[in-house]
Amino acid sequence: EAKVLAGLRDVAALTVDEERVGLQANVELPRETGQAVANGAEGVGLLRTEFLFMNRDELPTEQEQYEALAEIIDGMAGRPVTIRTLDAGGEKLVSALGTHPTESQNPALGLRAIRLSLKHHDLLKTQLRAILRASAHGPLRILLPMVTTPSEVREVRKALTEVAEGLKKQNIRIADPLPPLGIMIEVPGAALAADGLAKVADFFAIGTNDLTMYTLAIDRAEEQVAYLYNPLHPAVLKLISFAVDAARRAHIPVSVCGEVAGDVDYLPLLLGLGVRDLSMSSNALPRVKNRILKLNMEDVTRRAEAIMTQHDPGRISIMLQDYNERYN
Ligand code: PEP
Ligand code: MG
Repeated sequence: EAKVLAGLRDVAALTVDEERVGLQANVELPRETGQAVANGAEGVGLLRTEFLFMNRDELPTEQEQYEALAEIIDGMAGRPVTIRTLDAGGEKLVSALGTHPTESQNPALGLRAIRLSLKHHDLLKTQLRAILRASAHGPLRILLPMVTTPSEVREVRKALTEVAEGLKKQNIRIADPLPPLGIMIEVPGAALAADGLAKVADFFAIGTNDLTMYTLAIDRAEEQVAYLYNPLHPAVLKLISFAVDAARRAHIPVSVCGEVAGDVDYLPLLLGLGVRDLSMSSNALPRVKNRILKLNMEDVTRRAEAIMTQHDPGRISIMLQDYNERYN
């Protein structure tokens, strides 16, 4: 099997009935781009920038951020890179900002991600400056974590325009037009309000890790209730489906970038719900592509329709297992 997978690098991800699926990599460190490219990633669908901020007492400078981002964009050699702004807080600690679990009773519901960036406006602007400078190195998109409301996107877009004008005045080269500005759909409210958010965002990236956690009220890191953490819960599936449809109605791109995107068992369901772009950890790419080559889009769509009539996560899981059996 390893040999087959290694040979898939330059093969297009087409289903049997020739529907195209875009496959991108989730990246957490600059040195991971080599493996992403080697495994056939068409781009970086999610660059988590937390590595720049973690395990240190001071915030990274603009220059340091720019250099790290430029290295990643160079490493992807012309393939698009989706850079997510800092997703601090919740389970991701950043000591330089004093985000500490003891500060809040409910860190997952508190000042985190885009909320934190909008409060620490200098931090946001510095990151946006570094990102825009890096945009001279290759195609990129900007992605905002934990967005719940259109005003958050509007505020960031305003900051982005200001930062871009400042850079232009200094004769620093940046992408023109400015990079697309998209949002994570990872809070149930954002998924349900996706039609409104699609008016202000240029693209969606559905984060099933947090979406599952917030929908089912299950802490991602809480072992005692881990047995209830299930992306196959019909409530989660309905939210994914709704967000995908909203993106389609608005004609904006939508991808799935949570852990389920890299799991072949979920693949027929995601494709059946209309997902055509997936971003996953690089090591999952060959296996997922290999499975796409065997699936039939019409068939998985019918199967997804049947699954979406079900109410019991256990039943859904069995239906999916039954379907996958012929490929295992
Ligand atoms: C998610 O929440 O699904 C996601 C992709 O983001 P992260 O895992 O970084 O929170
Ligand atoms: Mg998340």
